[in-house]
Amino acid sequence: ASRFDGVTMAPPDPILGVSEAFKADNSDLKLNLGVGAYRTEELQPYVLKVVQKAESQMLKRGENKEYLPIEGLAAFNKATAELLFGTGNPVIQEKRVATVQGLSGTGSLRLAAAFIERYFPGAKVLISAPTWGNHKNIFNDARVPWSEYRYYDPKTVGLDFEGMISDLKAAPEGSFILLHGCAHNPTGIDPTPDQWAKIADVILEKNHFPFFDVAYQGFASGSLDEDASSVRLFAARGMELMVAQSYSKNLGLYAERIGAINVVCSSPDAAARVRSQLKRIARPMYSNPPMHGAKIVANIVGDPTLFNQWKDEMQMMAGRIKSVRQKLYDSLSAKDKSGKDWSFVLHQIGMFSFTGLNKAQSDNMTDKWHVYMTKDGRISLAGLSSAKCEYLADAIIDSFH
Ligand code: PMP
Repeated sequence: ASRFDGVTMAPPDPILGVSEAFKADNSDLKLNLGVGAYRTEELQPYVLKVVQKAESQMLKRGENKEYLPIEGLAAFNKATAELLFGTGNPVIQEKRVATVQGLSGTGSLRLAAAFIERYFPGAKVLISAPTWGNHKNIFNDARVPWSEYRYYDPKTVGLDFEGMISDLKAAPEGSFILLHGCAHNPTGIDPTPDQWAKIADVILEKNHFPFFDVAYQGFASGSLDEDASSVRLFAARGMELMVAQSYSKNLGLYAERIGAINVVCSSPDAAARVRSQLKRIARPMYSNPPMHGAKIVANIVGDPTLFNQWKDEMQMMAGRIKSVRQKLYDSLSAKDKSGKDWSFVLHQIGMFSFTGLNKAQSDNMTDKWHVYMTKDGRISLAGLSSAKCEYLADAIIDSFH
C-alpha cells in the first residue's frame, strides 16, 4: 500500500501528449504537426542566428548569475513594453504600464489570473470558443470563473462575428475579455481592423476589461508593428488593459521561458500599485524569474544591428510558413475532386491551420497516415515541409471522405 493510492493517473496533456505519441511511432512516414514549434524545411528545430550571436556576446562578457529582482530584468521590461506598444506610445511616455517579467506566455497569464482572483473576486473571464487548451487550465487552477464567447463558425470555417459581439454584450458588466492579439490559436482566424474597432466599442460600452494574449508578435505577419496593431488600437482608445507576451515563437526561446505581463493603467500611480501587487504574488510562487532569456531579448532589442537581424529571421520564418500554407492549399485543390472550397487554408494566419477535421477524422490522420495533430483538427504548419505537403493533402482528403 502507498499513501498515494488515492492519486489517480492524470490524462496526457492534449497538446504535449501528441509529441509523446509521435516519439513512440516507428513509421518513416510520421509527421508531427501537434506542438507549435518552428521547424526548418528539413524538419529540424531552429535556433535563431541572432540568438546565437547575442549568447556568444553574453558569454564573452562573463556576466554573473545573481538573482534578478522579483519583477525581472529592468532592461527587458523596458524593451518588451516598447516592442508591444511602440516607443512613442503615450502609455509608455506617461509611465502608465506596469510590466513584470513572467515565465513566458503561460506564466504571465497565470500571474494575471492570480491578480484577477485576488483583486476582482467573482469577476468572470470570457474566452473564445475554441481557444488554446491551456487557457482553461490556467483559470481553473487560479480559481477564476470563466465562460466562452462564440468565435469559430464551422459553416464558413471563419469568424462568427455576430455571435462574438452578442456574447460580449450579454456578459456581466466588467468582465475580463481574453483576446488573442494576433494569429488566433487554434483557428488562425483573426478579426479584421474594422471588426477589432467594433469589439473595442462593445468592450467600452459594457465596461469590460480587455485582456490580450500575444504569443506571436512578429511571427504571424513577419511585422512586429502589424501584429501589435490590435493591442495598440485598444490602447489608443484610452482603455485600461492587460497583455501577456511570449518570446517562445518569435525568438524561438521556447525552453528559456521568457515573457511578460503588462497592465496599462489610467495613471502612473495606479501602475506603480499594480506592479507592487504583481510582485507580491510572484514572490511566494517562484521568487524571481530566470535571467538568460531576458538578457537575450534585451540585448537584441537594444542593439540596432541585432534588432534588424532578428526582424530578417522572423520574416524568414513567417515566410516559410506562408509558403507551405500556399503549397498545402495548391495540393488540396489539385487532388480533391469533390469540389470542396479549400480557400480557408489561405485566409488563416500564423503557424496553425484549423482544418475542420473532427475527432474521428483526426484519429484517422494519426492511425492510418501517421500524422500527429491535436484532436480539435488543428495542424501546425511550422512542423510541415514543402516536400511533405502532397502527402499531407492525401491524408486530409482521405480523412474527410
Ligand atoms: N498563448 C497562446 C495562444 C499560445 O499559443 C501559446 C503557445 N502555444 C502561449 C500562450 C504560451 O506559450 P509559452 O508559455 O511557451 O510562451
